[in-house]
This record gives sequence, structure tokens and C-alpha cells, in this order.
Amino acid sequence: MIFKSPHYCIFVQNKSGMNTTEQVEKILADTNLSTELQNIAHKVLHGERITFDEGVHLYEHAELGYLGVLANFIREQKHGDKTYFNRNFHLEPTNLCVYDCKFCSYSRLIKQKEEGWALTMEQMLDIVKKYDGEPVTEVHIVGGVLPQYDVAFYSALFTAIKQHRPDLHVKALTPVEYHYIFKKAKIDYATGMRLMKEAGLESIPGGGAEIFHPEIREQIAKDKCTGQQWLDIHEEWHKLGMRSNATMLYGHIEKYWHRVDHMAKLRELQDRTGGFQTFIPLKFRNQHNQMSNVPETSVIEDLRNYAIARIYMDNFDHIKAYWAMISRETAQLSLNYGVDDIDGTLDDTTKIYSMAGAEEQTPAMSTKELVNLIKQVGRKAIERDTLYNVVTDFEHVVFEEEKKPQYYKLPVVN
Ligand code: SF4
Repeated sequence: MIFKSPHYCIFVQNKSGMNTTEQVEKILADTNLSTELQNIAHKVLHGERITFDEGVHLYEHAELGYLGVLANFIREQKHGDKTYFNRNFHLEPTNLCVYDCKFCSYSRLIKQKEEGWALTMEQMLDIVKKYDGEPVTEVHIVGGVLPQYDVAFYSALFTAIKQHRPDLHVKALTPVEYHYIFKKAKIDYATGMRLMKEAGLESIPGGGAEIFHPEIREQIAKDKCTGQQWLDIHEEWHKLGMRSNATMLYGHIEKYWHRVDHMAKLRELQDRTGGFQTFIPLKFRNQHNQMSNVPETSVIEDLRNYAIARIYMDNFDHIKAYWAMISRETAQLSLNYGVDDIDGTLDDTTKIYSMAGAEEQTPAMSTKELVNLIKQVGRKAIERDTLYNVVTDFEHVVFEEEKKPQYYKLPVVN
């Protein structure tokens, strides 16, 4: 399968005859390429970090094919053909929220509470118990912000989950919730994160980051924690020796330099703590929210963004794409543009993607389907736990039904 872009061919399966180093060297030999792009390619080939201005330059001037070659070179240096996923389920305590982020398709204000849900502790634990005996390794807890879900409530929830199922990794909440509940409890971030760890919290997902720069954040998410507060809470968590992820909501009213500013702040914190595992660019979706007038980015722009993230975030081990948000086909393509993780085998426990207008309205995928999705584009499927320990290497696993010949839909870029 070949995906052609203006100057360079990117092979969905690497059958070009050239290895990734030779592909970058081919770029360097291209006399038509600008000096700036030559310099960036040279830096990537030699493992050097690119600057803020070079990041902006890539967004403004680099073609998809060029970006794909560089991003895939880095991806394969770090991970070869390995592509990670995990088996998890989502626990969404509520979709009611005291905040009113303009891009949010998920939450309902408290005055619209008849359109929402707010689970009790017992209901949440019943959801956890539904997975008893299932081979899931993680519960991902995320939702809206409500006063009744405070430090005491979440501490009790994390403790009860760990008591019920000690092997289930609790990945929960974002600095948006933590800032709110710590402020209410009048405790500082360091104390709060220590309490959460003692209660059973094991890692923090990447949400709530949006775009850090106040020029944009104040227009789309003005009342919740600031970009700096988001970074401070992750820093306190990392100081406890714990890991977390980071996201960036892109493709709305921000300029390219806001994206680079966002990534620069993450890269700088990562230099100090090393606590981030994964960077997850999140595509802005425009359905059912207050920014429906803002057009969405194209698939080409999405792939360019993954690739630039891979090139710029040199100290992040992993770049993740949520297949449920960007479609299965785009997730397959993204594996050649720097992405090495396509999240998990969701069942239908999350409504976050579908409510925002994602392609996947019922985002469920079995392990077999997810493994096949990865194998179809010539990559190796690795089931990981939250901390990227290998749970199962699916390279030689053959599912029963696979023994018969099957025909697959090929990924197509419009
Ligand atoms: S994005 Fe999060 S904090 Fe903002 S309104 Fe939605 S649920 Fe609330």
C-alpha cells in the first residue's frame, strides 16, 4: 500500500527498499529543499533537538511527505515497528460540570441537569465490578467537575477500587479536577497529590491541557485551571516518582505558534522531571458545542500535526492517537507519522468521543480487531499496561478466525 504526498512516498508498509535513515538522507540530498528544512532534517538525523522557531517553520512550510519521513525515522529509532495499545475501561462519574468550556460537547451545566448523569459511589463501584474476571489492566476515570466529588469522595473511590481489585491500575482525573478539589479543601498541590497517591491513584491522564497560552485558553476554557497550574500539578505528581500523560487540543482558534508554545512548555517540564510518558494531540471536533462555527482540520493537517509533535517532543517516549476520535483508517495512517500508540480496546463505556461528533459513534473494538488494525499496516501489536510494560506481544498470536482468508478495507486519504 502506498500513500503518495507531494515530494516523497511514504509506504504504509515499509517496502520501499530504503530504511528510514536512507529516506532521511534522500531528503538531505534534495537540492530543491529550503535551507531551513535541510537543517531540520540534519538535526533529526543526528538526534538533535529542534528550536521553537523551527517548530513553527515546520507547521508553516513543511509538506506532509517530508514530515512523515522525519517522524517515522524517530518513531522507528525509538520503537521499531512496535505499536502499543491497552485494555481498559472508562468510568465517567458525571457529565455535569461547573465549568463552561466553549469546545466541550460532553458536559451539561448544572441547570441542564436533567440531560446529565451523576453517579453515586455505589454505582461507580458496580461499574468496576462488571469487569471482574475481564482481562483489563486499567480504569480510566474522567468526567465533569461537581462540588460533591471532593477530596474525600475521590480518596474513598480510589481506595475502594484498589481494595476490590488491587491489580487494576487507577488512572484518574486531570489538573482541572485536582485544582478545583484542592482549592475547596484549602490544601496545596503537593499535599493534595500526596493524599491522592496514598488513596490509590497511580497515574494521571493527559486531559485538561487544551492550549496553555492564556490568549487562547481564556477564550475557550476561561474559568478552569490555568496552563501554568496544569503544569504545576503534573510537576508535583512527578516529584512523587509518578507518571502522567499530556494532551493538546488543536485545530480551533489557535495559531501554529500557540501549538509550539504548548509543546515547548511540556518539553521543558519533561526535561526537569522525566515524568511524562505520552503526548496525545487531540483534534478539535465541532459538533454539539459552542464552537460549531469553527471548521475542523483535514486528515492531512492531523497527520502533519502528529508528525511535528513527534519531531518536536524529542524527550517524550510515546505519541498517541485515539482511534475512536480520528477514525480507524486515520489511526492506521498515523502509525507512519510518528504515532506508536493507538490507545485501547474500548467498549462502549465512554461518551466523550461520540458526543463531540467523532467518526466512532459507538467506539468499541475487540482485542482481535485492534490487533488486526495494527497488523494490516505492517506494524507489530503490543498490548501494554498503563506504564508501558509489555502484557502480550501479539506478533505470533493467531486468532481462530484469522486462519481463513480475509479481505480488508484499505486506508484512503481524501
Ligand atoms: S472540558 Fe471538562 S472542565 Fe470543561 S466543561 Fe467540559 S467537562 Fe467541564
